[in-house]
Amino acid sequence: MITYRPEPFTDFRETMHARQFEEALQRASGELGKDYPLVIGGKRIMTGKQIISLNPSQSQEIIGKTAKADREAAEQAMQAAFQAFGAWSRVPAEQRAGYLFKAAAILRRRKHDLSAWLLLEAGKSRAEADADTAEAIDFMEYYGRQIIELAQRGQRTLVALTGEDNQLDYIPLGVGVVIPPWNFPLAILVGMTAASIVSGNTVVLKPASATPVVAYKFMEILEEAGIPAGVVNYLPGSGSEIGDYLVEHPLTRFVAFTGSREVGLRINELAAKPAAGQIWMKRVIAEMGGKDSIIVDRDADLESAALNIVQSAFGYSGQKCSACSRAIVHQDVYDEVLNRCAKITNNLKVGDVRDASNYTGPVIDKQAYRKIMDYIEIGKSEGTLAVGGSAAEGNGFYIRPTIFAGVSPKARIMQEEIFGPVVAFTKARSFDHAIEAANNTEYGLTGSVFTRNRAHIEQARREFHVGNLYFNRKCTGAIVGVHPFGGFNMSGTDSKAGGPDYLMLFTQAKLTSEVL
Ligand code: NAP
Ligand code: MG
Repeated sequence: MITYRPEPFTDFRETMHARQFEEALQRASGELGKDYPLVIGGKRIMTGKQIISLNPSQSQEIIGKTAKADREAAEQAMQAAFQAFGAWSRVPAEQRAGYLFKAAAILRRRKHDLSAWLLLEAGKSRAEADADTAEAIDFMEYYGRQIIELAQRGQRTLVALTGEDNQLDYIPLGVGVVIPPWNFPLAILVGMTAASIVSGNTVVLKPASATPVVAYKFMEILEEAGIPAGVVNYLPGSGSEIGDYLVEHPLTRFVAFTGSREVGLRINELAAKPAAGQIWMKRVIAEMGGKDSIIVDRDADLESAALNIVQSAFGYSGQKCSACSRAIVHQDVYDEVLNRCAKITNNLKVGDVRDASNYTGPVIDKQAYRKIMDYIEIGKSEGTLAVGGSAAEGNGFYIRPTIFAGVSPKARIMQEEIFGPVVAFTKARSFDHAIEAANNTEYGLTGSVFTRNRAHIEQARREFHVGNLYFNRKCTGAIVGVHPFGGFNMSGTDSKAGGPDYLMLFTQAKLTSEVL
């Protein structure tokens, strides 16, 4: 087997790639507005109700309509996954990995098509959509290799005892409920689903309601790769209507969730309570929000720091758990970094991402738009508006990239996750003070430090308490296998997606010992 290597990103400056992408975008645009069924136990099922997925760039445009599951459908999906578990859990690890490699190959061939759907349904720019698709491919390639590695690990690591044959096998758990967010509608959905099934579990997959069509496209790829019926059951539905039901279900063995702190905590609480007839403790793997800081030290490369703050804060309109929403800048260079960021930000074009010259697209929907605009109003009373601070023109949910200056690290816009194109600047008296400010939220996901001071790099390595800490680069853009991803404190259950330990969370170890 070839060693895992991350999927390269597409260089859209090359005309051939740009043209192929435009063709894919045309194809997807020609298929808008279609109906999609649930897929349960391999059967396609229409329900009375639908989820209407809209294009956030053109909010009148319908991307597609998926069947919407009620509790009855959720029950059917749980039963189908439970039934499929018997046979799937006995498929050898290499063979399960083979399905992922096949699905990865199909996705690689079709990557511009999937990226085009991401552009349309989630409002991602070409580069952001391409990175999302590449990460989805990476998760399948990486976890496929990891499960083979894990299957061998038990034999390698046990201490030998003469006269005995000892074996440690990482066996599957059972039925998993997979609940992804809309902001990486392909990568995170694929990552949690792939980890679950390659470990021998079966899945009820409830996609985010804003992006169910991209999820369906992935379901089709799994089917094309030959995944047996019932191993993954596609169940779009409202989180508030069927979420609790799935989490509380006695057949649920684990929940893999990525999303907000609020929903993650609720799932954790509900999963802790055993249902009647339940004979295990449910496992919860939750990756939640962030309030991520970039620290700029007095001797940093200021131009690079400014560019990376802007990219980390405003890429995909700041709708990443890893997005920079706090810039903590040493007082000696504060004005210069702020001015440079303001200048770069003022040149960012906002608008429909079908137009490749727009860097910042829309935010996902009306609810997100309102929430972010409310935070911008709060920001106006907590700091000085330096850039943006208002809606941008267009037929979708456009907000100008917004910078607030002179904000206290304890202010609400410095503490609460906004999940939009808003970054707040605060002035630090010293490097110690900067680290203290960076650590003062309840989250602990990503962070970045710009400095040329070796002692400060080592100090941050020890003291800056985040799951993913970067030096002299942006705080977004983790790559599978290269930067295992996941945070501390209220950012989740300290798991590392795309890392060598992740599949342990989806398995349990069984020891067998035979006297020879
Ligand atoms: P969300 O509102 O928490 O939704 C996430 C998922 O949970 C959706 O599929 C949602 O379904 C579902 N859900 C809602 N209520 C539920 C319930 N009671 N029971 C079970 N499921 C329920 O989050 P989001 O707005 O989609 O995503 C943004 C959040 O995700 C941010 O906080 C961001 O930081 C976080 N995030 C974290 C990471 C990470 O790796 N740490 C990565 C990406 C995003 P509906 O869509 O139907 O409501
Ligand atoms: Mg939508």
